[in-house]
Amino acid sequence: MVPEKLTVLGRTYKVLVGPETDEKLKKRQLLGEVHHIGSEIWLRSDIDEDLQKETLLHEILHIISFRGVELKEDVITVLTTGLWDFFKQNDCSWIFGKRKRRK
Ligand SMILES: [Zn+2]
Repeated sequence: MVPEKLTVLGRTYKVLVGPETDEKLKKRQLLGEVHHIGSEIWLRSDIDEDLQKETLLHEILHIISFRGVELKEDVITVLTTGLWDFFKQNDCSWIFGKRKRRK
């Protein structure tokens, strides 16, 4: 299941998945889309969950890119594919490390 909201570079985005946004995405043949104004990420509800998650990662990369150097669509797609495969193929708990216990 995708989260209802998430924070990227200090800004919280609502993740909308449902009939309201599906129609608009279908018309434009998109799986997802980020709306910087309004801080919303739209995802299609009629695609499988793994593809929703990969699409969410794609939109997160668009947000990061928008806040820095705007990357072209094909670059975002290459990064999404590579990162998604990496996350799926590896145990990524090492990224967060072990928290030190407070005494
Ligand atoms: Zn894109």
